[in-house]
Amino acid sequence: MTPPPVVPPLTGAVRERAAYLASDDLPAYVYDLAELRAHAAAVRAALPERVELYYAAKANPEPEILAALAPHVDGFEVSSGGELAHVRKAVRNRPLAFGGPGKTPAELATALDLGVERFHVESEYELRMLGHLAARLAPGRTVPVLLRFNLPVPGAALEGSSLAMGGRPTPFGLDPTQADNAVRLLADHPQLELRGLHAHLASGLDAAAQLAVAGEVVAFAVALAARYGVALPEVNVGGGMNVDYTDPGVRFDWTAYGEGLARLTAAHPSLLLRIEPGRALTAYCGWYATEVLDVKPSHGEEFAVLRGGTHHLRTPATKGHDQPCTVLPVDRWPHPWPRPAARQDHITLTGQLCTPKDVLARRVPAGGLRAGDRVVFALAGAYAWNISHHDFLMHPRPGFHFLGGA
Ligand SMILES: *Cc1c(COP(=O)(O)O)cnc(C)c1O
Repeated sequence: MTPPPVVPPLTGAVRERAAYLASDDLPAYVYDLAELRAHAAAVRAALPERVELYYAAKANPEPEILAALAPHVDGFEVSSGGELAHVRKAVRNRPLAFGGPGKTPAELATALDLGVERFHVESEYELRMLGHLAARLAPGRTVPVLLRFNLPVPGAALEGSSLAMGGRPTPFGLDPTQADNAVRLLADHPQLELRGLHAHLASGLDAAAQLAVAGEVVAFAVALAARYGVALPEVNVGGGMNVDYTDPGVRFDWTAYGEGLARLTAAHPSLLLRIEPGRALTAYCGWYATEVLDVKPSHGEEFAVLRGGTHHLRTPATKGHDQPCTVLPVDRWPHPWPRPAARQDHITLTGQLCTPKDVLARRVPAGGLRAGDRVVFALAGAYAWNISHHDFLMHPRPGFHFLGGA
């Protein structure tokens, strides 16, 4: 049995643009910035006081996206020198947190020059390197540091996660057994100012699992602070809020999450919490619109070959899901040759690449799909274009349309 079709709500502006573009202007990424602003404002409104919202730029760093988010977030998380330079330029005067493993000396030096607001330190080596580089700064200038830890992920949270960065051997953050040494090292580098802790342990978590993670991280911070008699006023509990690609109507419960975080901050009156979601902020505002080029049978199944493919929208290939989509039928057929059409009820949507991995969605309930019909893929606003292998096979790049600009 194939599950019933899940048709994601296609916003009017996106539908109009996807329908009116000429074939040669497809495929196209269409972003609804009005939708993005409304969503970000709702997320912000669901969060209590003393919880800061940062956006993890790696999910989608398009300048238009960053600019639309800027009024609704407290800052941006960047994970490389490239992202750092890019975000600093795209949005002025917003705090940046610089994280990520394998920071180079040059990247750290540039980050110090740019006055990055928070350094998420990932290892003892990095702490020493930052300490040495910071020693060259003007006397009295301090460098705000959050120590990133790879902490155990609570059992309940682990079950639902799609990607675990913590609680198992990974290159991310300090091992909990290094906590004592890291705090001692900080004493050798007076210009490094320990502001608190950072952890980004898993992604694909629902609100209850995220709250369990936040509780663990805060408990670790409180215990560490007590052991050393230091203040750890800030705890960044990371991102990883779930986006459900099988049912786009189910969204992360920001209200329940905000209420849970409010209980956590109420229990710790001097605590400032910070979260840094990426996917759950921008996935919903982006669409990948294209058209059917060919429809054909193969060994009992049917395939529609679309203009474009996973070299533009790699998300379904990397995550192993079917990208949710909507068909926009096009009745006009401008060619003198016959128009191919699907005969079965379900059809697999592929791209133009010469690899069987170039599948966007399997067995989609789109009976009667014809060449020339348009297909618009939803949830393409995060980890989509920017994680794709654009140059493989040298097909043209998609167009980019930012609707609802301020
Ligand atoms: C990727 C990443 C995020 C964002 O994760 P999402 O799953 O997109 O919410 C946040 N923090 C760190 C350190 C990351 O590496």
